[in-house]
Amino acid sequence: MKTLHTISGKDVKGDKSLPFTTHHQILIIGGGSAGITVAAQLRKKLSENDIAIIEPSEVHYYQPMWTFNAAGVFNKEKSKKLMEDVIPKNVAWIKDSVVAFHPDQNSVETAGGRIISYEYLVVAPGIQVDWDKVDGLAENLGTNGICSIYSYRSLDYVQECIKNTKSGTALFTQPNTKFKCGGAPQKIMYLASDTWRKRGDLNNINVQFTTGGSVIFGVKEVAEALGPVVKRYGVEPKFFHNLKAIKAEKKIAVYDIYKDGKVTDQAEIKFDMLHVTPPQSSPDFIKMSPLADAEGWVDVDKHSLQHNKYPNIFSLGDAGSTPNAKTGAAVRKQSRVVTGNLVALLKSGTTDTSLSYDGYGSCPLITGFGKLILAEFDYNNKITPSFPINQMKERRSMYHMKKDLLPIMYWEGMLKGRA
Ligand SMILES: Cc1cc2nc3c(=O)[nH]c(=O)nc-3n(C[C@H](O)[C@H](O)[C@H](O)COP(=O)(O)OP(=O)(O)OC[C@H]3O[C@@H](n4cnc5c(N)ncnc54)[C@H](O)[C@@H]3O)c2cc1C
Repeated sequence: MKTLHTISGKDVKGDKSLPFTTHHQILIIGGGSAGITVAAQLRKKLSENDIAIIEPSEVHYYQPMWTFNAAGVFNKEKSKKLMEDVIPKNVAWIKDSVVAFHPDQNSVETAGGRIISYEYLVVAPGIQVDWDKVDGLAENLGTNGICSIYSYRSLDYVQECIKNTKSGTALFTQPNTKFKCGGAPQKIMYLASDTWRKRGDLNNINVQFTTGGSVIFGVKEVAEALGPVVKRYGVEPKFFHNLKAIKAEKKIAVYDIYKDGKVTDQAEIKFDMLHVTPPQSSPDFIKMSPLADAEGWVDVDKHSLQHNKYPNIFSLGDAGSTPNAKTGAAVRKQSRVVTGNLVALLKSGTTDTSLSYDGYGSCPLITGFGKLILAEFDYNNKITPSFPINQMKERRSMYHMKKDLLPIMYWEGMLKGRA
């Protein structure tokens, strides 16, 4: 039997009178966008209840800013804060990572050897970035013109690659797996292209959008709105091209070519710059757990976000099985449903059936400096605009909302349980 470790004083932030215990009434896994938002909302509504977050990282990232950081708009330091500064007051921080679930015993096991039990569990560890699923990617990221906005450490190198590319071929990839922020692979492509246009180099650069998918964007209206943008920058879309390997020294990208869902061929493209959106999947410790659905995601009802087998477990954010676009914007809507249901369960023993997540996701598609198409849609890919304007038009106002307002709304609204 494993030894039970108590939480060290150093691990617990906030009220020093919090009991040093291995049981918490509400246990949250992950201190990312979803975990912190739910913790903050719960703390506001349930001032007396015992809430804890298990999170290994000392830093919390506002990942939606990374596209701007890589394009040189903000310094990347602006996208991060210390974890201890975003965990709400009087919420215990267990600085550890979960490795296994025991839902029949209402407990989880951590890398540090703790067994932590709970009454209610919120699972929000985000998505796993599978760098090693493309041969030659992990070891060559940051060299030979190979870069990615999906890694904080690579952001400066993306900027360097954009600066150094003056001619030749620039490839921007999109995997055929699920991945966070459906628009990000294109946003960085448009910002890079706009930089090259302004510098007068765009005519000498062949920009290719190589995607494992079959369309430029999964929502028809958005795909149509992007048509003129693609044309403006002379982007050559290549569908059914899934990046398989990189021959870094020779600067060659190797693609599997798909037809009718099967690999039918391979193609090699020589590049001067290669921006990779890596394959992504549910975190391994979720895939291997009794909480997972057939694809490895936390198996929850897509409207109530309650686990389909274990009613005292909820999941939201990128790790959940809900078939929405994996975005922070979705987290904002999902958090209200999870929080509302937990409060209802604690107060009356049943969930609040009036709460239902409709699949809302948002993609602020930056199409150039000072230009943005604000795509918002639900489970049915129905456009659900927040503003009484045509959001499918490129707008400077929406660009400034994304660049200047959304970060404030995130740090001061969402993460403080106010939005
Ligand atoms: C380049 C980029 C651009 C983006 N642009 C946008 C945008 O414009 N708009 C938008 O809405 N969204 C955008 N997103 C997506 C958005 O950042 C994510 O959808 C959102 O962060 C998901 O929240 P989450 O809490 O599920 O995951 P995360 O915020 O990734 O947090 C997961 C947390 O879980 C922790 N964790 C992992 N494993 C364990 C474990 N075993 N035990 C305990 N804790 C664990 C991690 O350390 C992390 O802190 C973008 C993302 C990227 C990368």
